[in-house]
Amino acid sequence: MLVNISRDLCIGAAACVAVAGEVFQLDEEGIAILVGPSIDNTNTTLAAEACPTRAIFLYTDEKVQFFPPIDELAKDYQEEKIHNLPD
Ligand code: SF4
Repeated sequence: MLVNISRDLCIGAAACVAVAGEVFQLDEEGIAILVGPSIDNTNTTLAAEACPTRAIFLYTDEKVQFFPPIDELAKDYQEEKIHNLPD
């Protein structure tokens, strides 16, 4: 699983930290960052689902986004979704 966090969408609510603190922490600006590998895919997925702003993007190892579901995204976010695609 590949994980990316949108700094533009994150509001620092820390739900992801509460659910999967081994993967997510807040930086000095109060924005979520990745601090560890997503070893526990279940907790990482639960953290993404808990994010109130859908700031956490999840991809398969083949770089196919599976969360948030594409059709759930607002049209305005489509360009950012593409921008957030991991290398
Ligand atoms: S739950 Fe979402 S908004 Fe809250 S800190 Fe994590 S990524 Fe940011």
